[in-house]
Amino acid sequence: MDHKLSPELEELRRTVEEFAHDVVAPKIGDFYERHEFPYEIVREMGRMGLFGLPFPEEYGGMGGDYFALGVALEELARVDSSVAITLEAGVSLGAMPVHLFGTEEQKRTWLPRLCSGEILGAFGLTEPDGGSDAGATRTTARLDETTNEWVINGTKCFITNSGTDITGLVTVTAVTGRQPDGRPLISAIIVPSGTPGFTVAAPYSKVGWSASDTRELSFSDVRVPAANLLGEQGRGYAQFLRILDEGRIAIAALGTGLAQGCVDESVAYAKERHAFGRPIGANQAIQFKIADMEMKAHTSRLAWRDAASRLVAGEPFKKEAALAKLYSSTVAVDNARDATQVHGGYGFMNEYPVARMWRDAKILEIGEGTSEVQRMLIARELGLVS
Ligand SMILES: Cc1cc2nc3c(=O)[nH]c(=O)nc-3n(C[C@H](O)[C@H](O)[C@H](O)COP(=O)(O)OP(=O)(O)OC[C@H]3O[C@@H](n4cnc5c(N)ncnc54)[C@H](O)[C@@H]3O)c2cc1C
Repeated sequence: MDHKLSPELEELRRTVEEFAHDVVAPKIGDFYERHEFPYEIVREMGRMGLFGLPFPEEYGGMGGDYFALGVALEELARVDSSVAITLEAGVSLGAMPVHLFGTEEQKRTWLPRLCSGEILGAFGLTEPDGGSDAGATRTTARLDETTNEWVINGTKCFITNSGTDITGLVTVTAVTGRQPDGRPLISAIIVPSGTPGFTVAAPYSKVGWSASDTRELSFSDVRVPAANLLGEQGRGYAQFLRILDEGRIAIAALGTGLAQGCVDESVAYAKERHAFGRPIGANQAIQFKIADMEMKAHTSRLAWRDAASRLVAGEPFKKEAALAKLYSSTVAVDNARDATQVHGGYGFMNEYPVARMWRDAKILEIGEGTSEVQRMLIARELGLVS
């Protein structure tokens, strides 16, 4: 593994860093407070090609890979996690299933518009009765052989990017049959936005990620063509495990960005804030706290880059992705708490970016597999679980 970025990746990093500081930072606080989706910022991210980063040029992508996506996510999340998760979910959960498992026709239909950011994709796995236990899916899809259509019924909850004005599709997991032992056969099916019977609820009121879109979705006799099946029937479980394995690397990069953003804000504040006649950063207690924060952000970066390098090289990466996700979400929460402490009372005021980071950090220990689920995966990879 090469720990240094190539000149191309360094250029990408610098471009996204500038965008985050010049375009996102001045505006995102207001969107966040209004719980409003930042369409103009997302449109600009589309124009920059960020939604197409890991996809081939023939489908409108940038011809990069998952490592490049991680670099962009880290730089965005250094400044704001709502826009970062919009990109992460749009790419890893929205477009990636089509890229990895779609037919040629599905790729040509959806990927160019997903890559340009003209439309956003979403992935509907979680249900009100179960997120970690995805095998407990209750949503059903029955094939109506007279019309050659899937008929979908069920409810999905907490789905990112699923109800914006530019959401184009949601890939949902649904039970399409039973195995001989009674276990469900789960399949993934593309449901275009606006399909009759597909209802999108109002946005949730969330603790954090307030400028991102998260909704509950209902499916009542929703009919889509049989050709909207993604990959093979009954392979949906294996498909989303792959999607989530990869997604963990992206979330780890995002968590690293948040952890680093906490360092950036704390260093600046510790130099400018005075107490007892000198900058608070002159106190070793503050210096050591920030040094520990930097250690955690740095180590977290090494962890996601290691997992991404393995993925890009075609090597096994499951354990490393789980390690990176577990570690980065833990240190994101640590750093957000410590950065708030460094800021004193101002750290509790929403106008300060660290307050936003504090509110955004906790979900990283929950989304795309909780910390407990990551530990289960790591233990399994260590041979501790049969
Ligand atoms: C803002 C937001 C955005 C999201 N976006 C999406 C999305 O785009 N698509 C999507 O499909 N989902 C999405 N989710 C859902 C998310 O992935 C789930 O919330 C998460 O996987 C946990 O599932 P759950 O909420 O059902 O918790 P549960 O599975 O009910 O878990 C509750 C608690 O029990 C623990 N637990 C469960 N089983 C075990 C066990 N065997 N051993 C030890 N502990 C256990 C969990 O770790 C957790 O602490 C999103 C969630 C949020 C909050």
